[in-house]
Amino acid sequence: MSFESLGLVAELLRALEEQGYTEPTPIQREAIPVGLQGRDVVGCAQTGTGKTAAFLLPILQRLREGPHGRLRALVLVPTRELAEQVFSRAQAYGRHGNVKAAAVYGGVGMEPQTKALKGGVDIVIATPGRLLDHMGRGHVDTSALEVLVLDEADRMLDMGFQRDVYRILDALPAERQTMFFSATISADVDRLAQRALTDHAEVETGRRAEAADGVEHILVAVDKSAKRSVLAKMLKELPTGRTLVFTRTKYGADKLAHHLRREGTNVAAFHGGKTQSARNKALDRFRLGKTHVLVATDVAARGIDVTNIVMVVNFDVPQDPEIYVHRVGRTARAGASGVALTLMSPDEWLMMRDVEKLMRRTLPRDVVPGFEPTVEPVQPEERAEPSRPQGRSVRGRRGIARRR
Ligand code: AMP
Repeated sequence: MSFESLGLVAELLRALEEQGYTEPTPIQREAIPVGLQGRDVVGCAQTGTGKTAAFLLPILQRLREGPHGRLRALVLVPTRELAEQVFSRAQAYGRHGNVKAAAVYGGVGMEPQTKALKGGVDIVIATPGRLLDHMGRGHVDTSALEVLVLDEADRMLDMGFQRDVYRILDALPAERQTMFFSATISADVDRLAQRALTDHAEVETGRRAEAADGVEHILVAVDKSAKRSVLAKMLKELPTGRTLVFTRTKYGADKLAHHLRREGTNVAAFHGGKTQSARNKALDRFRLGKTHVLVATDVAARGIDVTNIVMVVNFDVPQDPEIYVHRVGRTARAGASGVALTLMSPDEWLMMRDVEKLMRRTLPRDVVPGFEPTVEPVQPEERAEPSRPQGRSVRGRRGIARRR
């Protein structure tokens, strides 16, 4: 199927071609025609599925006609990184048109944003808190708003934006098109969707909360104390390329980055404890391939839009299984393949079971020779696998991890 058959106009088709997109992703195939009709859309889709273009393209097509310089489309996102990313996509897809966009988020000065807002924009991409701040100061006129997008609605709620989002909804014209995207649908997300949407079409890419296709999941059982050494070893031996490592805490990210650096890895830490400019710099270097490994916390990593991430590492098994899906969604984007490596200490065995339940699949447990866990993890009865001879290499290509 082509983008043309979805009903997009020539200037957008040209921009997509220049981006190197040859065909729409599943969510784009489903959401674009509905969005172009002006209908509400609910998309159950995580990052990496192409959801940004799924909502931006219908908006850009709609805004070609009608008045310019008035706020007609608003995209709410949870983080500044995602705001920047959606903004840059809007610039890329809209490059042959005359639609003006602005990104508005906290952590930076108000002034340049105020100037942009007052200068007349058609689309605003915003984090909820900062948008309310501008609205309170009279910098934003929402009376002409036609389209609202809630992107990563689940994350917005997780990050404590619930009240802000509801306040924004109260201030918007009721007569509008709303597009709602969330990787997971909890009761709170559902309530927000009910409030924000009217008559909508549901578009889904695969099952809810399912990790992206094309990902090879490797699960390594290892003692907690040996995780850093195992990761340093695996980074040397696995295929090289951009690698994103997740840790639970900022302190953990710093400590791990320090260790890997000492082991000769080209690595940087990326978390909310760093200044915005340090984060931008780290991200630029990573994007340019000057830094190979980025060690990030979950919050900081939201919205990192770097293509060709070949491997995502869960240095800790996340407590919330949905976080696993979000993390892994950073690799194997838009049909590419990628590796998700999880280092699991014996105390994390049960949390990993929850991840597996969510994904509806069981991953084989591997060990790294020389780093076999000293404590035998609690093996739930139903998961007990037949014992295999120790030390049998299961991945010739990798040659490093062996299945227990
Ligand atoms: P998203 O899920 O919107 O964050 O998009 C994930 C990545 O896929 C981004 O880097 C997009 O530039 C890219 N992308 C989006 N749509 C397509 C497409 N149809 N073909 C190839 N790449 C795409």
